[in-house]
Amino acid sequence: MPDSTSYPLRITKVEIYEMTIPLKSPFVISLGPITHAENIIIRIHTDAGIYGTGECSPFPTIHGETQAGNKAVAKVLAPLWIRKDPLAIEDRMDELERAIAFNPCIKSAFDMALFDLKAKYCQMPLYQLLGGSNTKVLETDMTVGLGTPEKMAKEAQSFIEAGFTNIKIKLGGTTAQDVARIRAIREAIGSEIPLRIDANQAWSVDTAIHTLVALESFDIEHCEAPIPHWNAHQLSLVRAKSPISIMADEALFNQHDATRLVQWNSVDYFNIKLSKSGGIRNAIRIASIAQAAGIQCQVGCFSETRLGISALAHFSLAFSNIIHFDMDSPLMHSEDPVSGGIAYSKGGIVKVPEIPGIGADFDSNYLSQLPQQVIQ
Ligand SMILES: [Mg+2]
Repeated sequence: MPDSTSYPLRITKVEIYEMTIPLKSPFVISLGPITHAENIIIRIHTDAGIYGTGECSPFPTIHGETQAGNKAVAKVLAPLWIRKDPLAIEDRMDELERAIAFNPCIKSAFDMALFDLKAKYCQMPLYQLLGGSNTKVLETDMTVGLGTPEKMAKEAQSFIEAGFTNIKIKLGGTTAQDVARIRAIREAIGSEIPLRIDANQAWSVDTAIHTLVALESFDIEHCEAPIPHWNAHQLSLVRAKSPISIMADEALFNQHDATRLVQWNSVDYFNIKLSKSGGIRNAIRIASIAQAAGIQCQVGCFSETRLGISALAHFSLAFSNIIHFDMDSPLMHSEDPVSGGIAYSKGGIVKVPEIPGIGADFDSNYLSQLPQQVIQ
């Protein structure tokens, strides 16, 4: 063990903030409606004056984590890092893994803050630290929430009119209901633009196969989470009978899930989200397993602001097998508290800033108004 005084940096303070942002309108998926982003911000300070900021977005129905629970766990984890080296990300994250099982969402905010801090320390944008280049075109989809066929068709049309060229559709009813939804959307937007669908685990194996076969002629790019996560070993059965490619989402949290999904030959695609994987460290492992197995990936979101999505965008520039981008959560928020960071432009193009670190930050006036806890 090197003497701690030889470390270039030491963590002096960890700030925990609860951030709640109303959505412009309720977003409905098969697991229920969402009306607010209820996120946690972790800011890690050092004795060199550099700090790193991370964010996570717990979905109780997917993570089994909540904003209040995340804050309580963060108060347990943060003291473990005081006076430790923030650049030793592997050691720091192993400490969190040993301290408490599961809880990948809150761990991801700590992980993201360390990567932001390290990239700032190295004076390079995060994508560069991760070995990527800022040349890939990141084109986000826009997601149509669950509703009547008429409402969903109208929403899809409004996204096309706004210039988006990738549309994701939430499904999860009976075969007749879901086919009616996709038919109405196709009638409204035409056949040019491929659609992605996401059942959020709502279908049984039989319904999944039945619905996916019935949707064959509607030019569907892929289907996320057709069946419950606990039934992931049956995804291979759905995949074998489906004319539409299958993507793992809720069945893929971490690298261990990725390994099992490869062994079971279950899916065509992985959907990687930092709030599921436990952060960038594990997301790198998932993308690497995918690369080794010839699987291509999407990056996705919960309800992160542009800070969390900026970190995700940097990560996606580091892997050539990340080819689909579902980065639309900030566009659903009624306010944007982030300065710097990614910029959205016409067609859903996402530009990544050439600033050291994640390149995004929260205004200190904004943070001062949030419920907070300081650990030092
Ligand atoms: Mg999904």
